[in-house]
Amino acid sequence: LAMTAAILLGSLTQRLLLIPDLLSDPVWQEYLHYILDDLLAHGLFLLGGKIFIASLKVLVVPLVFVSLVCGVCHLRDQGSLGRLSLKTIVLYLATTGLAISLALLLATWWEPGSGVDKTTGGNYVPPQPMALIDVLANIFPSNPVQAMAEGRMLQVIVFALLIGIAIGRAGEYGERIGSHFNDWNEVLMKLVTLLMSFAPYGVFCLLFTLFAEQGIGKVGDLALYMLTVTTVLLLHGFIIYPLLLKSLSGLSPRIFLRKMRDVQLFAFSTASSTATVPVTLRAVEQRLGVKNRVAAFSVPLGATINMDGTAIMQGVATAFIAQAYGIDLSLSQYLLVVLTAMLASIGTAGVPGVGLVTLALVLEQVQLPVEGIALIIGVDRILDMMRTAVNVTGDAMVSVVVARSEGAIDQDIYNNPKAGEQK
Ligand code: ASP
Repeated sequence: LAMTAAILLGSLTQRLLLIPDLLSDPVWQEYLHYILDDLLAHGLFLLGGKIFIASLKVLVVPLVFVSLVCGVCHLRDQGSLGRLSLKTIVLYLATTGLAISLALLLATWWEPGSGVDKTTGGNYVPPQPMALIDVLANIFPSNPVQAMAEGRMLQVIVFALLIGIAIGRAGEYGERIGSHFNDWNEVLMKLVTLLMSFAPYGVFCLLFTLFAEQGIGKVGDLALYMLTVTTVLLLHGFIIYPLLLKSLSGLSPRIFLRKMRDVQLFAFSTASSTATVPVTLRAVEQRLGVKNRVAAFSVPLGATINMDGTAIMQGVATAFIAQAYGIDLSLSQYLLVVLTAMLASIGTAGVPGVGLVTLALVLEQVQLPVEGIALIIGVDRILDMMRTAVNVTGDAMVSVVVARSEGAIDQDIYNNPKAGEQK
């Protein structure tokens, strides 16, 4: 309800913003501008949205750290950690590969870019993406406090894993400190629940400001591009994931999707998988019944390295830019696109708009003009919101599948429609 109201009222305000200029009386003009523009679009709701995102983000690092240390130090068999990580990473990569292949297939079939005027884009100077070797080297923290302060998720994960392993091996000392982490974990989860009671207001503020400020951008030539991206996102989110979930775990996809709705809404309105981590983690553990030892690892890791929705946009965008510039891609170039997009999603934080930055990396690999990004940048925000919802759904799906194969899921919780609902 909050989402629909925000989109409607926001779009309405955007239209109303044009009215003051039609008025002849400058006093009225100024007054209306003040109410609509300064107060609503750039005032109250912008502030509300900022506070909401900040209060989600403030929980990310402490929650990921505490929850992962907790999960690892209570693992009875630490040898299973390797198997669990391997399964999770392989599934993340496989689903991303599948997503981008689907995107390339549909984009070469529908050809959204053919006939598009490539000069309409204007200038785009890509930010320098990090070299892949640095991305990998960067996973290992040299200063944990800095890693946390800068919100470097992979570094925080590696540090938490090491501390967790050490606690698990430190006998009675470890037990003492492990139980503290347990308590902290409970307290932080409570905080997430508390925060979620403000969700409708936060979501309203975020979406209202977005739609009042910019609507969905100028669509024009990009309608088919948007349609292609949206179709593949829907296909992947609502058909491929349920099929994979059913065939790999035997669990009900309908229950999964129903319980993921809140998380998807958070991801949609924040356009950030990382800011959504607390909400995803809570849903995966408390609503879908995945044990902390799996969820605490797979969810934050997924928010960083698993971006199926982003890969879908990149696949369609690559084909679109190639078509707009009249360049034919060979089969080996397509394969290179799949590979680079899969690698590019590792080490890129789940924050708004980062998919476009890594798209530059993909385009460079197949020698397509990076300026092509200017063509699609205008409609990227709304697509970013949608793809982030798919990204987080993928993280949760893989968590459930891995948990099921490790015997780490409570099916009574999974099947109970009321489990983990806010009181
Ligand atoms: N906003 C996306 C996410 O946080 C990343 C992107 O595609 O730009 O998952």
